[in-house]
Amino acid sequence: MVNMFSSELLVSTIPDNCLSTTFQESTIRDLSLYDFQVDNNQVGEIAALRLETEPRLPGVILMEKEQLSGMISRQRFLEYLSRPFGREIFLKRSLKTLYQFACTDFLVLPTNTTIVEASSRALQRPTELAYEPIVVEIEPNVYRLLDVHHLLVAQCKIHQSANNLLQELYIKLETAHKELELQASLDPLTQVANRRKFDQYLTQKWFQMSKEQNPISIIMADIDFFKRYNDTYGHQAGDRSLKQVALAINQTIQMITQTNNENLVARYGGEEFAIVLPNKTATEAISIAEEIRLHIESLKIIHQASSCSENVTLSLGVATTMPELSSSIEKLISQADKALYKAKLKGRNRVICNY
Ligand code: GH3
Ligand code: MG
Ligand code: MG
Repeated sequence: MVNMFSSELLVSTIPDNCLSTTFQESTIRDLSLYDFQVDNNQVGEIAALRLETEPRLPGVILMEKEQLSGMISRQRFLEYLSRPFGREIFLKRSLKTLYQFACTDFLVLPTNTTIVEASSRALQRPTELAYEPIVVEIEPNVYRLLDVHHLLVAQCKIHQSANNLLQELYIKLETAHKELELQASLDPLTQVANRRKFDQYLTQKWFQMSKEQNPISIIMADIDFFKRYNDTYGHQAGDRSLKQVALAINQTIQMITQTNNENLVARYGGEEFAIVLPNKTATEAISIAEEIRLHIESLKIIHQASSCSENVTLSLGVATTMPELSSSIEKLISQADKALYKAKLKGRNRVICNY
């Protein structure tokens, strides 16, 4: 049966790791519970003695014929004793007598109540009762006391853990979102921007340049005799060359425009690349295109089947405009395409600008 005079600490505190993993499911069973059930026919002195010797004991559970009959908190008990003649009246008389004076509503909860739910129920009580201990039903007619202060500290920890977890989840989600966005805008083979990103970026910069009244240039670059390269060295070797060319174009652009990264290199399709150069005049764009051409030549990727060089080469078409909202982006692309076509016709491995 119930140990009437032992107040034991069943569980001291919830371990932090327990909170972080199962904080939502943590119940009041995981908290410090005090065991002090007394038959209400016992004299008040017995309760007074225990409350004095055990300063953490939050109150007394009163039983009548082994049934729960009431609960007196430490605060209320001491308050009654401190009244005029309190000690004389209550210490020698039964706890039942005291309870007739100190009788208050008390909250009884089963042990499987979550800490979150218990905190909410505790604080929903009238203000003067909000900090009264809670009676926890362990099993039928076996009760323990829960100090509301302990409960609220645990609730705070849970709240903090939930906040930290949410913060972590938010950061992970943001990183995943950025990664996804990056993947969606990259060409998987060459790791430069894809056609979708090119279209989106060119449109964005077109509007910006038209507002700022600044020029915008684009370069279309196409590998010369690449079909023959595949036919000679195989498709896999072709893929490796494509990656090398993309990397070299990117490096040239980064070297030239170290201070700003507003230029964009994209794989336009097959063995063709497109470069967006906001704020660049035709002269500047031609110079950049020439740098790229020289860089590819310097890679010296052997291409015996090429009719214009011993190595892999690029033909480049440049177009520049002062964009206006009424003019069209397609026209700029088509001009760069025409310039590229001319470069091919004139013998490849060269830069042509379509003014
Ligand atoms: P031109 O100098 O006139 O540009 O000749 P070309 O052979 O480069 O042009 P064409 O359009 O006839 O052929 C392009 C070749 O590029 C054909 C195709 O197999 C190759 N190609 C396109 N995409 C890829 C790719 O992802 N990997 C490989 N290995 N080859 C590709
Ligand atoms: Mg080609
Ligand atoms: Mg092509």
